[in-house]
Amino acid sequence: PSIIDPPKIHRLEESVVNRIAAGEVIQRPLSAVKELIENSLDASSTSINVVVKDGGLKLIQVSDDGHGIRYEDLPILCERHTTSKLSSFEDLQTISSMGFRGEALASMTYVAHVTVTTITSGQLHGYRMSYRDGVMENEPKACAAVKGTQIMIENLFYNMTARRKTLQNSADDYAKIVDLICRFAVHHINVGFSCRKLVLTSDSAAEFDKSIRAIHEEVRRRLANIYAGVMERVDRHRREHGAARADVHTVGTPSRLDAIRSIYGVSVARDLTEVAASDVNPSSSVFEMHGFISNSNYSAKKMTMVLFINDRLVDCTSLKRAIEVVYTATLPKASKPFVYMSIVLPPEHVDVNVHPTKREMIRRRNCDTPRAYVEKASNLVMVIVGQGSLVPHR
Ligand code: ADP
Ligand code: MG
Repeated sequence: PSIIDPPKIHRLEESVVNRIAAGEVIQRPLSAVKELIENSLDASSTSINVVVKDGGLKLIQVSDDGHGIRYEDLPILCERHTTSKLSSFEDLQTISSMGFRGEALASMTYVAHVTVTTITSGQLHGYRMSYRDGVMENEPKACAAVKGTQIMIENLFYNMTARRKTLQNSADDYAKIVDLICRFAVHHINVGFSCRKLVLTSDSAAEFDKSIRAIHEEVRRRLANIYAGVMERVDRHRREHGAARADVHTVGTPSRLDAIRSIYGVSVARDLTEVAASDVNPSSSVFEMHGFISNSNYSAKKMTMVLFINDRLVDCTSLKRAIEVVYTATLPKASKPFVYMSIVLPPEHVDVNVHPTKREMIRRRNCDTPRAYVEKASNLVMVIVGQGSLVPHR
């Protein structure tokens, strides 16, 4: 048999290592938006505005009115593992901020062009600088700024051709971003959110110019009835290119039901039942849950599950399934439920550092198993259904 020489092992270049790692944290435009919004929330913002171009590949811009970033921190802002939120590993036990790894901004600079504008309170002007591959590219430039921080991510995955190609073919990234923001807005009701799509790239701007010129011609030719025609065209352009309208727009409100109504619509909010439960057992394990779940008037083809555990937006397939089963077993129609649920567990029962995108968490050993919590939550839903609270009240 022929002998195969073992391939030689060599060290990868640091830039390659960083780009690979960054691609795991920032998997698609949606992950960048999520990280940026979480940073804005961690900065105590009350208003967060998102602008997206080309599904996020061309531009993602998140502006907030939070506490801003100190001048002296700007040089290391986008280095890997720089954070203001965690000092020791033990802090992870009780951390309440959503960020803690100092990896999000750094990762974005390895796969996109990042520009930050920020101002801290009491300052007369802000600073703007751009970052690439973890490094600040220029000295901070003084600039006009309103309260807070604005982060611009341009040309996402410009250096990852395959990823960019795949994403270019997926049409639903913008919809996913809107959906994500709706979820945050349901939970963080004291924060106003908005999300807008911009499609005026140089191409469509040129097209727009052209159509305006054509309109001018027409104005000259047919002065009399042209006005209506112009308005119609501009309107259509706006509609088709999403020029000005926000796709999510919320203002802070003390009522969660109002928030849900403004985000998911009257027809959803009308058919919801408020649920709450807490369970304090002697071993000082605390479980608290509150939320809004749909009643039997509600009808939808797909289940909407908005789940926050300790204020983190997460997925929990087992809980989702369990609740879905309760509904299917109880309601005659094949309608899927709407569920908003916020669960609070002792922070030390939860390990937030499991998933690179932090979408999943696991319970630590020696604590209640995930199953126990899933059962508690779904039992509760079952009790409510059993008591007939889901029966139409109209
Ligand atoms: P992490 O959130 O895990 O700390 P990031 O890379 O997301 O890591 O952010 C790094 C640091 O930059 C944060 O710890 C925070 O101090 C600062 N920062 C990022 N975004 C904002 C923002 N919108 N407002 C204020 N500070 C921010
Ligand atoms: Mg972060």
